[in-house]
Amino acid sequence: MKRLIGSCVIELTVGDITVEQTDAIVNAANSQLAGGGGVDGAIHRAAGPEIMRQTREYYPDGCPTGAAVVTDAGRLAARYIFHTVGPIWQGGRSGEPDLLRSAYRACLELAVDHECRSIAFPAISTGVYGYPLDLASETALDEIRRFVESKQSPELVRCVLFSEGVFGAYSRVLEAWDR
Ligand code: ADP
Repeated sequence: MKRLIGSCVIELTVGDITVEQTDAIVNAANSQLAGGGGVDGAIHRAAGPEIMRQTREYYPDGCPTGAAVVTDAGRLAARYIFHTVGPIWQGGRSGEPDLLRSAYRACLELAVDHECRSIAFPAISTGVYGYPLDLASETALDEIRRFVESKQSPELVRCVLFSEGVFGAYSRVLEAWDR
């Protein structure tokens, strides 16, 4: 499923982000950049130990919530991994929506800075971090759309969703754009 925003494409797929061939893939990391379960564990396992060496060397203080840092992509097909830290859901009154927007925007800015024509995102914060899926998908897609509308870059933003349930939530948001 996709939507055209000017000359840019926002696309939804179901799958494993580690096999994406976009210029950059996004990791939903934790603020210590310590690795973990979920998509973070999968990316580090697939990319290899070089990635953790880079995060330790370049970002010993980790990464604040809502920000993003870059490493190369080790054994993966992508050129870069952008490690971002989404908010932990605490009920919605602790700035979670702004922090989630900021995480997406930070990665999209890195994509432009690193001349990436394509980028793949997981559904940041919707796993262990507990962000309600319908709210997260709405916020994620709105921030992506705002960014590509204003910058007309990257050419392709692909949301790689790990289950049909997550895909369903995202696709309902795209369908609502048409109404
Ligand atoms: P967070 O801590 O930000 O919530 P998680 O990794 O727990 O991060 O979950 C974020 C999302 O990533 C969830 O929707 C989860 O299903 C999904 N996910 C887990 N593994 C992968 C993968 N290999 N590719 C894409 N998405 C994945």
